[in-house]
Amino acid sequence: MIDFSQYLTEAEHHFPEMIQIRRRLHQHPELSYMEFETTRFLIDHLANLGYEVLKPLETGCVAVLKGKSPESRIVALRADIDALPIQEEGEHKKAFMSKIDGVAHCCGHDIHTANLLGAARMIADKKVELEGTVVLIFQPGEEKIPGGGKLLMDAGTLQELGVQRIYGLHTFPYMKPGEIAVKSGPLMASPDEFRLTIHGKGGHAAAPHIAVDPIVIAAQVVTSLQSIVSRALDPTEPGVVTVGKISGGSAHNVIPERVEMLGTIRSFNEETANLISSRIEQFAKGLAEAHGGSAEYYFDEGYPPVINDNEVTSKLLEIAENVLGAEAIHMLEKPVMAGEDFAFYQKKFPGTFFFLGSGSEETGSVHSWHHPKYNADENCMKNGSALMTALALKG
Ligand SMILES: [Zn+2]
Ligand SMILES: [Zn+2]
Repeated sequence: MIDFSQYLTEAEHHFPEMIQIRRRLHQHPELSYMEFETTRFLIDHLANLGYEVLKPLETGCVAVLKGKSPESRIVALRADIDALPIQEEGEHKKAFMSKIDGVAHCCGHDIHTANLLGAARMIADKKVELEGTVVLIFQPGEEKIPGGGKLLMDAGTLQELGVQRIYGLHTFPYMKPGEIAVKSGPLMASPDEFRLTIHGKGGHAAAPHIAVDPIVIAAQVVTSLQSIVSRALDPTEPGVVTVGKISGGSAHNVIPERVEMLGTIRSFNEETANLISSRIEQFAKGLAEAHGGSAEYYFDEGYPPVINDNEVTSKLLEIAENVLGAEAIHMLEKPVMAGEDFAFYQKKFPGTFFFLGSGSEETGSVHSWHHPKYNADENCMKNGSALMTALALKG
């Protein structure tokens, strides 16, 4: 077993710089696919560290460092760099609050970026020890379909570089800094979206017999959709159908022309997503037709599910145990139903995505992802950057 004990000490040494970078990014958040300033900063910083920096997309970048026999092993580490359209709140961040109105790093991507830059420095310092090639991905647009991960894979850069496996992490408010949560197999769901328009025939509320009421149809559709997961899905297969928005009508005495609905489908494989989607369409069209109306159905494919490779996950566990200690590692028993565009990389490269504990009372890091007060405890970057460095060298 290789001794990684000094990695945490080194990370501790670089911690002030990571904090500085994190706070700088936090104060200057940029929305998905508009991360121009962040990208300029990254390119400068990485070039200074001696990386060859590629820019396959308009924002974000890919940094490459070659060691001995560069073809022998090619490992990619990924961070996402975009912020969210959220008005930030929170006492604990007062000193480095977002300077941009309505935009904030409320998913911890500022931490992911600063953490990987910390690792980038340590990896560069160890270049003489490096066997193979390290590819650092600073990915734009994680928060917005089609996903920067998809665009980057479509660009083909990582395939050309010959990436052999990939690691990624996300801050995790449900565990403390120093801890990580790992899982083999399905980790995060595929979040697909659907839109439904129910067309009726408008008219006077007192004369329903000469109108077709889309509100009654919509009510039956929403109720019927609840039976898809319970009656059409294999009971051992996870799935969610939620109608999150419904709108239609204008007055108490008017039957409207149409009703619109928006919803999400969560699943862990394409087959389940397709099954749920086709049932939604059947219910909507069938019920609308039975009432003399009609339905239009649109399905927007989201990200695939995050399915962690067994072998790469074992490698992560072995290295994490060495760097952080066995007591730091928690095996997740159940997947989470949130989605992640890291899944696009995993369609091509064996990889594993894991959670980096970042919750603590002292720093007010008690809120869930996308909460206006979301604030990952910066201390997680010590362990995160040490672990990423070890994965770059031996993962
Ligand atoms: Zn997010
Ligand atoms: Zn995120």
